[in-house]
Amino acid sequence: MTNKKILVVEDEEALVTLLEYNLRKEGFSVSLARDGEEALLKIDEEQPGLVILDWMLPKVSGIEVCRRLRAMPETRNLPIIMLTARAEEADRIRGLETGADDYLTKPFSTNELIARVRAVLRRIRPGLVEDTVTYGDINLDRSSYRVVRNGKEIHLGPTEFRLLDHLIQHPKRVFSREQLLNAVWGSEVYVEIRTVDVHIGRLRKALTKHDKGDPIRTVRSAGYSLEIDA
Ligand code: CA
Repeated sequence: MTNKKILVVEDEEALVTLLEYNLRKEGFSVSLARDGEEALLKIDEEQPGLVILDWMLPKVSGIEVCRRLRAMPETRNLPIIMLTARAEEADRIRGLETGADDYLTKPFSTNELIARVRAVLRRIRPGLVEDTVTYGDINLDRSSYRVVRNGKEIHLGPTEFRLLDHLIQHPKRVFSREQLLNAVWGSEVYVEIRTVDVHIGRLRKALTKHDKGDPIRTVRSAGYSLEIDA
């Protein structure tokens, strides 16, 4: 699934290796950053579903990365688990106040970390760990590849399905065409940017087939978002 991607931001090589190995084993795709600056770049480029963020980092500290992510609308709700060597209660509170969703003090077991990752995902983005996700009158089921809108089944091609799956995980968030290309086609593949418009067009047509309102908002020169009026 596109958003089972976790960005690990840590500068201790041994811990990076351990986390990468164990997260992959659990079925997550893992991306790595060694300092705060690289972390911010990768989050922007790769849009991970969750960030594991070390407190002590070169260049930009973990706490500062966390603060900046919370200040930007596109990353305001990005799940963050902070790692730290400090066990002081004051630091723990500061970390959570800055906007981290959970907190782990080193040393921790990998089982503990995986459990926290799953717990945070379940709490913040149920759509990432569940088979079905619902937004407004749209229901998407990943196990059966079915989409239902207002009780009626919607038939989508695989690309439209993945597009909707991506959009529905972040309702109202505007994605640029480049971001959608990365998320749905992958950054390795060369696809023309206009291809996104074509598939958005098909998705829109399918979703509005039964005279329901158009849930896809086109934001001029910015991109697309999924938005259903309450
Ligand atoms: Ca560190």
